[in-house]
Amino acid sequence: MRPSFKKALQRAAINARKLRPTVLYKEDILSLLTASDGKEMEALFNEADEVRAFWVGDEVHLRALLEFSNYCIRDCLYCGLRASNVALKRYRMAPEKIVELARKIKSMDFNTIVLQSGEDFAYDRDTVSWIIREIKKMGLAITLSLGEREFEDYRAWKEAGAHRYLLKLETSDTVLHARLRPGRTFEDRFQCLRWLKELGYQTGSGNMVGLPGQSLETIANDIALMAELRVDMAGIGPFIPNPETPLGDCPQGDIWMTLKAVAVARLAMPWAHLPATTATGTIHPQGREMALQRGANVVMPDVTPVENRKEYRIYPNKMCLFDEADHCRTCIEGKIRALGRRVARGYGHALAFQDQQTEYANGGR
Ligand code: SF4
Repeated sequence: MRPSFKKALQRAAINARKLRPTVLYKEDILSLLTASDGKEMEALFNEADEVRAFWVGDEVHLRALLEFSNYCIRDCLYCGLRASNVALKRYRMAPEKIVELARKIKSMDFNTIVLQSGEDFAYDRDTVSWIIREIKKMGLAITLSLGEREFEDYRAWKEAGAHRYLLKLETSDTVLHARLRPGRTFEDRFQCLRWLKELGYQTGSGNMVGLPGQSLETIANDIALMAELRVDMAGIGPFIPNPETPLGDCPQGDIWMTLKAVAVARLAMPWAHLPATTATGTIHPQGREMALQRGANVVMPDVTPVENRKEYRIYPNKMCLFDEADHCRTCIEGKIRALGRRVARGYGHALAFQDQQTEYANGGR
């Protein structure tokens, strides 16, 4: 093991066991990301798994993902939902349908619903607020993932009862960000994340590993920034090229690099909920399980009706594309148990949030 790697790992391990961990030096994050095959990777993964057990225990939180619209006004080069993709059959669920599906999700014993869409302004401030209020009555914790919106939208939805918001930074490299997301800047996105924190959302972010033009320094910077912002959740997954986009011929992100980024994120943000992403499970048949053994503690089963799910094509060949929601739930529970872990029964709120409030009954707060 290289001395520089060993020292970085020791510093990270000590820091991760403090009550209030500090932000790791970027050089240490970078050094950990360069873990080589064999002993270094093994040591990194073992440490991440221990820190995961120390901070968030053996429970795995299930968040039911409902993709209710694949319309998007943006044109991100890596994403199949981009407005220019005319090959995609678009769908948009009526608000009443979303509420009805939420009821079904609740009956399947999920405690959290993640409402996700492209940036679709057909769902205005009041419509989304109504959906949130209706779902809130069911006692589900509500995560929104609707992209960049105005501060007043975020405020209204928080007041309506949303608990969490997920907005991946995608990449913190400002030049790359502007190139991959035409018309948008990293500053725009980061401002949204600051607003969400300010409004008291449990804030999730994340990045992609293996984006064309991305360097290892960029991944280190993404993790450092998320740690500085003290995000409550960080979704890290590989870039998967979509042939319906301008990046269709680029190579996909590497599974081992992705797993290293998850493990380093656990050391840099020991308090955070880290999903074993669907994209990781898509590029490797054991991807999600491997991520759960390397720092992750959340899985987001896709409960979107099958006929819509196949049209929510950010990337192709998504895993479990044709599995019905109740089958997904049973399947993932079995996989979690096979790893010696257990499915969490509570809401799985952010640790910082739980410090302030006890878990509440019936979703009321
Ligand atoms: S990444 Fe998000 S904002 Fe960009 S095109 Fe896809 S859905 Fe729209």
